[in-house]
Amino acid sequence: MESPVALPLTGGCGCGRVRYAIDAPLVGAVYCHCTRCQRRSGTAASATGRLAPGSLRITAGADEVRAWAPQGGHEKLFCSACGSALFSRPPGSDAPTTVRLGSFDSDPGIRPSARQFVAYAAPWEPIPDDGLPRYEESSLRR
Ligand SMILES: [Zn+2]
Ligand SMILES: [Zn+2]
Repeated sequence: MESPVALPLTGGCGCGRVRYAIDAPLVGAVYCHCTRCQRRSGTAASATGRLAPGSLRITAGADEVRAWAPQGGHEKLFCSACGSALFSRPPGSDAPTTVRLGSFDSDPGIRPSARQFVAYAAPWEPIPDDGLPRYEESSLRR
């Protein structure tokens, strides 16, 4: 069970220019092993939380946020000053739908419950044997 957390949840980028607040509990979280997450994070998997619609407010540094819009994928939002990965959003939307768990100031109150895009997992790191369900593609669209 997840314990209740104090709202808003807060977080930001590495250099501190971009800050955000989230006014509702996260609705889910996954580890994403997709190639884009490997590229943008430099790691084997990205821990990502799903936002309740409209719950995210950027409270500082909105001008610093840039988007990488890969072909056929969600736009990846990051701090242009320090490169920290922060959010993603559907193409053509200006409302982020996910937040990177590593950007929180404190425990966001949720744990990743699945591993997705494991078909693309990095060859250099075994997928942890943690009992979480694994999805070859997205854990949402099956
Ligand atoms: Zn930054
Ligand atoms: Zn991914």
